[in-house]
Amino acid sequence: MVDLKGQYLKIKKEVDYAIQNVVDKTAFINGSEVGVFKNNLSEYLGVKHVITCANGTDALQIALMALDLKIGDEVIVPAFTYVATAEVIALLKLKPVLVDVDIDTFNINVQQIEAAINEKTKAIVPVHLFGQCANMQEIMYIAEKHNLYVIEDNAQAIGADYIYINGKRQKTGTIGDIGCTSFFPSKNLGCFGDGGAIFTNNDKLAFKLQIIANHGQNKKYYHQLTGVNSRLDTIQAAVLNIKIKHLDEYSNKRQKAAKFYSENLKNNKNLVTPICSNSSTHVFHQYTLLVKNGKRDELKQFLNKNGIPANIYYPMPLNKQEAFKNISRVVGDLKNTKELCSSVLSLPMHTELDNNQLEYIIEKINQLKFS
Ligand SMILES: *Cc1c(COP(=O)(O)O)cnc(C)c1O
Repeated sequence: MVDLKGQYLKIKKEVDYAIQNVVDKTAFINGSEVGVFKNNLSEYLGVKHVITCANGTDALQIALMALDLKIGDEVIVPAFTYVATAEVIALLKLKPVLVDVDIDTFNINVQQIEAAINEKTKAIVPVHLFGQCANMQEIMYIAEKHNLYVIEDNAQAIGADYIYINGKRQKTGTIGDIGCTSFFPSKNLGCFGDGGAIFTNNDKLAFKLQIIANHGQNKKYYHQLTGVNSRLDTIQAAVLNIKIKHLDEYSNKRQKAAKFYSENLKNNKNLVTPICSNSSTHVFHQYTLLVKNGKRDELKQFLNKNGIPANIYYPMPLNKQEAFKNISRVVGDLKNTKELCSSVLSLPMHTELDNNQLEYIIEKINQLKFS
């Protein structure tokens, strides 16, 4: 699905040097590279504050911890997402409220958000799934109307732009109260292990997020809040300082591969190719097809047999997961979520796909005569 080795080899000299430099200084925790990366990311995103942490799941947890919510308060999330988005809500004894997504963008449906709101609702966590931004203009409007926080799960869309109706652009993850991301190796901006970050334009929230991520201490050995220990390693920051310079070029390569797929698959009657919404650029964390008529598993097996990785993100919605059965609230029939779980298929998507690989994948997909 990804080619991390090929991507590494192109920046090997620079990356090896940066890592060796950290080792030579043995500044493994909070070395200068971490501060440099915070500045680089804040500049790239156009956001005032960046707080780094150990992974994307921690980023979401710390964000929720900064909001002073009470046990039983409700947080709205899409039912079609990676588990981490809802897991941290449950972990903090808040209630995940699962709502449906749009069938074409895979992102949270705004009518369903409205339908989910009650007196216990405190926050919305939209996920910019597969690299495309959720309908943030509507979501911010609803949040303002009902006095709710918005935490953007930007783990899959770093580098994408949200496009307002008036044409103004803003980086995903910087629109809500808090944005969260992950630097897991296969993410669009990945490091060589685990890493994450939280961003905000709100000074008060930034101060609190920083304290919570560092044992709740505002001064060494003085603990103002119950916090966690969540840090980005210096070595990971050193790698990210190099990779962030390439992020736009990486997004570009993903977009080119996606364009090739779509142009060559658009006439295949068994498939629906991903749409690019007018209100967002798409950085294609995943290139995800809908396979019609119950033929998804057949296509997946056929591709795998021919040496082509193809994966299902996600086979089971949150409302069907054992862990959330008794602790979540489901809104509506989740019709689209159900349909997506049985028909989505993601093709290989990364920065190193060459024409031969792409042509082979297309040839195989278009070869299959569905039984
Ligand atoms: C990857 C991911 C996360 C979690 O990130 P980790 O760094 O693996 O903890 C959260 N939400 C979404 C949508 C993700 O894709």
